[in-house]
Amino acid sequence: MSNAFSIHPSVDNGIQAATKDFAGGTLVCHCTQDPVRVQVDAQSAYNHACGCTKCWKPKGALFSLVAVVPRDKLQVIDHAEKLRVVDSQAAIQRHACSQCGVHMYGRIENSAHPLYGFDFIHTELSPDKGWSAPQFAAFVSSIIESGAEPAIMAAVRARLKALGLEPYDCLSPELMDAIATHAAKASGVLKS
Ligand SMILES: [Zn+2]
Ligand SMILES: [Zn+2]
Repeated sequence: MSNAFSIHPSVDNGIQAATKDFAGGTLVCHCTQDPVRVQVDAQSAYNHACGCTKCWKPKGALFSLVAVVPRDKLQVIDHAEKLRVVDSQAAIQRHACSQCGVHMYGRIENSAHPLYGFDFIHTELSPDKGWSAPQFAAFVSSIIESGAEPAIMAAVRARLKALGLEPYDCLSPELMDAIATHAAKASGVLKS
């Protein structure tokens, strides 16, 4: 045991590579009876570890694992009546199971938002194997806001790097560039 902390149970023992031509699967909440099921008809993208205080994390994990899929490829197929929006004021409306608390998907309803069109999902909720692998770690410093000791941050960042998850304190440069490009086009600074 090299670390006294868990980054996330899906990566603590190494990262599973994606399966070529994987085309989606089902997400299932943690309820043993009448679980919510969400069907996703696409491979996930931008899978990453997230340290923010809003994403759902399994118990004991410092990070969530979160990815995106096109919103038109996602549908709730079982027990939609159990879903509640965690915070209707948040940019990402996280639809959680009201019984077990698991977040089944996050949706952006503001069509001007740079990431509009993507739903956020946790692929660990799927029994199907082959989802895209996590690529980086976002909002790393924010785990302190959830109670992590500042003294462990160097060890956390070292562990993330060892796993191949480059630690960032916002999103990855690629996603930050995409968001800034959207803002520059919206303001007219950049002509599309
Ligand atoms: Zn549930
Ligand atoms: Zn997050």
